[in-house]
Amino acid sequence: MTAYDLSQTLSRRLTVLGSTGSIGVSTLSVVAHARATYGADAMPLEALTAQSNVEVLAAQAREYRPRRAVIGRPELLGKLKDLLDGTGIEVTSGKEAVIEAARMPAEVVMVAIVGAAALPPALAAVRRGATLALANKECVVAAGELFRRTLDGSRATVIPVDSEHNAAFQVLDFAQGHAIEKVTLTASGGPFREWTRERMESVTPEQAVAHPNWSMGAKISVDSATLMNKGLELIEAHFLFALPAEKLDVIVHPQSAVHCLVSYADGSVLAHLSAPDMRTPIAHALAWPRRITSPSQRLDLAALGRLTFENPDRTRFPCLALAEACLRSGGLSPTILNAANEVAVEAFLNRRIAFYDIPRVVEATLAADGSNRAEAEDLEAVLAVDRRARDAADALCRKLAA
Ligand code: NAD
Ligand code: MG
Repeated sequence: MTAYDLSQTLSRRLTVLGSTGSIGVSTLSVVAHARATYGADAMPLEALTAQSNVEVLAAQAREYRPRRAVIGRPELLGKLKDLLDGTGIEVTSGKEAVIEAARMPAEVVMVAIVGAAALPPALAAVRRGATLALANKECVVAAGELFRRTLDGSRATVIPVDSEHNAAFQVLDFAQGHAIEKVTLTASGGPFREWTRERMESVTPEQAVAHPNWSMGAKISVDSATLMNKGLELIEAHFLFALPAEKLDVIVHPQSAVHCLVSYADGSVLAHLSAPDMRTPIAHALAWPRRITSPSQRLDLAALGRLTFENPDRTRFPCLALAEACLRSGGLSPTILNAANEVAVEAFLNRRIAFYDIPRVVEATLAADGSNRAEAEDLEAVLAVDRRARDAADALCRKLAA
């Protein structure tokens, strides 16, 4: 036995929901690094799931040897079966199969699906008392109260993976909650931080997904370019850390070295720093409460030279203001905000609407429905509101595209 015995941490079984995406691939690279460092049997895999990238899923399954591989789109089941023939890995498909994968007895579940589609499997993992490494933020925004209530009534633990929330989790003194004055999330400002509004009117999807510091999936890259990502993250922090809107703040920090700052009553400010590399928060979440080595880049402050901070511009980035308004008004408005944004971002990526149509669609969808201050009682109710907002946003996108 070594002085720092990680055997129990590394023997926990892991399921990765959304293994073929940006976070999913980074998660498996942390697993590969752990296996190379600590031994081939570290972090055994229970299940891997993906929506449509059947080739990558099959290659991952052959390399990492999960008990089960799940493809979301049912028409791809035959292909997955062929690709994994003779491996002994179970193969299933469909929406229900993804939820079923979350129910399998892995101690740790990485939730790396994009969008509110992560909600049913995430809740399934919470209900059976798993430890969730939670990268997905849309499920918390879409169903904050329900998510919180389900979590409080379970034995589950959530370790945030979203870099700012993972940073907050590391510097928040949970035992001194009364002494927290403010939690400040940093934002890189995205690729258009210094662009005029006129110039931004005609940006293309390619320009919007080319993030200066982080390499991420297409949806979150667009959210970072509109600053909706930071707005969603304020709502995520509100529900994950039970902090009121007044105690949450955003500051633009283009170097992405500081991820979160927590201000205390005595004037102390505790910050978390790391290189902008998701493998750091992923490794933290997978090993918590211990720490393991990760293949991430290391922070080089001398090379960065200076760290700068500025206030966000809510006129050029109206999505941030829209999300902040939903954070303050609560009720079902975050559900509607998130659903409308998912539809608008998809339409922008498919070149059906322009960049500034994203806040237009979100604002108009909220105006039609967002004054609803009720809370959704259960998953079906949340999904019904989510669906209605998607239909309304889709109709607006069609009108704009016409
Ligand atoms: P991505 O688009 O690269 O990957 C998404 C994954 O989800 C893929 O494996 C895909 O197969 C799967 N998926 C897509 N639609 C699905 C559906 N309907 N049902 C089941 N599975 C589905 O996304 P990403 O950038 O890895 O982001 C994943 C989540 O993590 C998002 O919620 C994002 O906001 C959050 N996040 C990402 C980063 C990052 O650096 N990429 C950072 C912080 C938070
Ligand atoms: Mg983030």
